[in-house]
Amino acid sequence: TSTPLADLDASLLHATHTTAPRAVPGHDSAETAAQRTCTDHMVTARWTLAHGWEAPELKPYGALSIMPNASVLHYATECFEGMKLYRGHDGRLRLFRPDRNAARMLTSAARIALPAFPPVELIKLVTTLCATDGPKWLPKTQPGHFLYIRPTMIATDAALGVQRPKEALLYVILACFPDMTVSASSRETGKSGLRLLASNDDTVRAWPGGFGFAKVGANYGPSLVAQGEARARGYDQILWLFGDDCGVTEAGASNFFVAWETRDGKMQLVTAPLDAGIILDGVTRRSVLELARTRLTGSVEGLAPLEVVERRFTMAEVVLAADEGRLVEAFAAGTAFFIAPVAEIHFRGKDLTVPMGADGKSGPYAKCLKGWLQGIMYGRETHEWGVVV
Ligand code: PMP
Repeated sequence: TSTPLADLDASLLHATHTTAPRAVPGHDSAETAAQRTCTDHMVTARWTLAHGWEAPELKPYGALSIMPNASVLHYATECFEGMKLYRGHDGRLRLFRPDRNAARMLTSAARIALPAFPPVELIKLVTTLCATDGPKWLPKTQPGHFLYIRPTMIATDAALGVQRPKEALLYVILACFPDMTVSASSRETGKSGLRLLASNDDTVRAWPGGFGFAKVGANYGPSLVAQGEARARGYDQILWLFGDDCGVTEAGASNFFVAWETRDGKMQLVTAPLDAGIILDGVTRRSVLELARTRLTGSVEGLAPLEVVERRFTMAEVVLAADEGRLVEAFAAGTAFFIAPVAEIHFRGKDLTVPMGADGKSGPYAKCLKGWLQGIMYGRETHEWGVVV
C-alpha cells in the first residue's frame, strides 16, 4: 500500500516575497549585456522518486544548495527552456506560445531521465513568476522590451552512482537580457547581418540517436570551443553541418532558413527537418513555418509566393544557388537572436555572400515574418500565440 506520487501542482505554490528588492538595470546597460542580473524572485519545486512533486515555492532569487556529489554536476542530468516575457505596446505582458516550451521541456526531461510533470503546471508557475516580477522589471512605460525566462531542471541526488535520478529540482528564473538583433560582428564592422562560420568535419553538434532534439545542457557546453573560435575569427555563430555531404542543420543556438529560387523558377523557403532527431524543434522555427505556410502562399507585400519545404539540404546546394544568382536570403530563427538575417557564410576557405535585401539590412521574407511575429509578441496583432500574463 503505497501512497500515490504527487504531481506537480502550481495551485499549492507557497510564496515568500523578498525584503531586499534590487534596482532594475537599463535595457542598454553593461549589466544587462552581461546577462548576469536576474529579477527579485524565482520559483522552485522539488521532486523525489519516493514522493513525487512537493509544493512549489516562490521565493527571493538566490543561491541553490546542492551537494558536490549531485548528479547534475557529474552526469549533466539537466534540461532547460528559453522563452521571453514581452511588454506589449498596449501595456500588457505576454508570453509567446508557452505551451510549446512546456511541451519541449517535457521531451527534454524524458531524454535525460528527469521526471515528468503536467506541462500546464509549468506554464502556471512561469506565469505566476512573470506576474510577480514583470510589473517592476518590465515597466509599462517601456513597451517593446522583454525579460528572458529560463525554466530549468537538474538532478540533485547526492550520490555518485551513474543511474536514473531519484531527486530533482525544477526552477524558473527571469533574467535581464540584451537585444541581440544587432550581431557582435555588426557592432565591430558596422555591417548588417550575421556572419556564420561553417563547422569543420571534426566538430558535430548533434547526430542521429543522440540528443540534438532535446534542450539539454549537454548540447551546449561542448559547442563553446567552436563558438569561441568563430568569435575570435570575427564570425558570430557556427553554422552546424552534418554528414559527409555537409548537410546544413542549425546556426549557433538557432534554427536556420534559406530562401532560394529553384532552377525551375519556384521561390522556396527551406529548413532542415526534425525527423533525424538532430534539430531542435524551435518555437520560432515552427512559427516561421506556420506563418509562411498560411500567409505567404499568395503574393503578399509585393513578395512572390513561397513554397515551404522541410528537407535535408547541403552546403553544395546553397553554394550552387549563390553561384547561379538564385539565393534570395538566409536567416537564423530563435528566441535569443529572434529573426537574424545572415550576410555571410564561411565554408571551406571561402566567404559566401548572402543577399541582404534591397536595403542591405534584411532579406524581404525575413523582414516580413519578423514583423508579423513582433506584432503578435507585442500585442499589435491579437493572436492565440500571444498569451497575456
Ligand atoms: N536550436 C537550438 C540548438 C537552440 O538552442 C535554440 C534555442 N532554444 C533554437 C534552435 C531555437 O529555438 P526557439 O525558437 O524555441 O528559441
